[in-house]
Amino acid sequence: MAGNFYKVQCPDCDNEQTVFGKAATEVACAVCGATLARPTGGDAEFEGEVIETVERRSASSRTDSDETVEAQ
Ligand SMILES: [Zn+2]
Repeated sequence: MAGNFYKVQCPDCDNEQTVFGKAATEVACAVCGATLARPTGGDAEFEGEVIETVERRSASSRTDSDETVEAQ
């Protein structure tokens, strides 16, 4: 079963960082080093605000904007 990813906003510097929902280790902000998520044994506990849930899904399903791009 694949877990989700969450976009978490750092409470200190507003950096938005994607964090695995079942992070097994503490996740620190890449910018200021503040703790963004702590492992709990199940779903991680987020310190910052979760602004978006990112489902684990391949990004290759975007074909709508692929309109008639042909080699000339
Ligand atoms: Zn930060």
